[in-house]
Amino acid sequence: MVDIDVGTDAAPRYRWPENSRSVEDAASVASGGGCSHTTESVMSMDASDTLTEKRSGLGQIAKRVAGCTDCGLSRGRTRTVPGEGNPDAQIMFIGEGPGFYEDQQGRPFVGASGKFLDELLAGIGLDRKKVFIANVVKCRPPSNRDPQPDEIAACGKHLDGQIGAIQPKVIVTLGRYSMQRYFPGESISRIHGTPRRKDGLIVVPMYHPAAALHQGSLRRVIEADFARLPGFLEKVLAGGTPEATESEVPPHMRKGAPTVAAKQGQAAATAASAEQQEAESQQMRLL
Ligand code: SF4
Repeated sequence: MVDIDVGTDAAPRYRWPENSRSVEDAASVASGGGCSHTTESVMSMDASDTLTEKRSGLGQIAKRVAGCTDCGLSRGRTRTVPGEGNPDAQIMFIGEGPGFYEDQQGRPFVGASGKFLDELLAGIGLDRKKVFIANVVKCRPPSNRDPQPDEIAACGKHLDGQIGAIQPKVIVTLGRYSMQRYFPGESISRIHGTPRRKDGLIVVPMYHPAAALHQGSLRRVIEADFARLPGFLEKVLAGGTPEATESEVPPHMRKGAPTVAAKQGQAAATAASAEQQEAESQQMRLL
């Protein structure tokens, strides 16, 4: 159950379930190192065994990634970036690929977009120790170019392994390339923020945080999509349908919804269409 703690602040804060517990050794998981930290004494033996198993599985994947040469990206990397976070996370974020700073540090989302991601997480009462963050490719594409389909395909086994080990309740894709992993051919501008069931997983596509850094108007869109995450997770944990009902889909994305342009006449429609095409084109270049 996701409680809402109104507290003394104006904005409510979510109180996340116990198994959103943080993991202090995120860096160890990312690097593939073992861990002998004690877990909470109140944790049952089964839960402890499961966590140990998950941590071990992620460590093994990180080690395989560190030695992986299965695509051309291995040649230009400084460090692999397998991902990091809570092995028992309920929410897993999947970005696109490491950038310059990620490649240097071996950690995901450590640049400007990572700072914004931290802010987004904090806005819903989470931090990196309560979620797991990974990318569709674990090595930096040269000059931060887009990851190529063959590279995404080659790296898919590592990501699949991480998802299998963690078994998150909800996957959030950040950006176009991670979205296309689950919804090929879809438009991020159409389906962002809307949970869907895919291959037994609940996937919520969202814009990449970097998009908001390049296009200020997207900042509030991403913040609004993040704000809805606790409600989605609550529904999943309650055993309800996690897929968005029509009422949860933002009005402008509902099937058959009249567009603003339609209401305002053909002249306005033409202008709105051109504006939207330009905006989407710009978003695509940025994502
Ligand atoms: S991007 Fe993935 S598949 Fe390619 S070399 Fe790196 S770890 Fe291996």
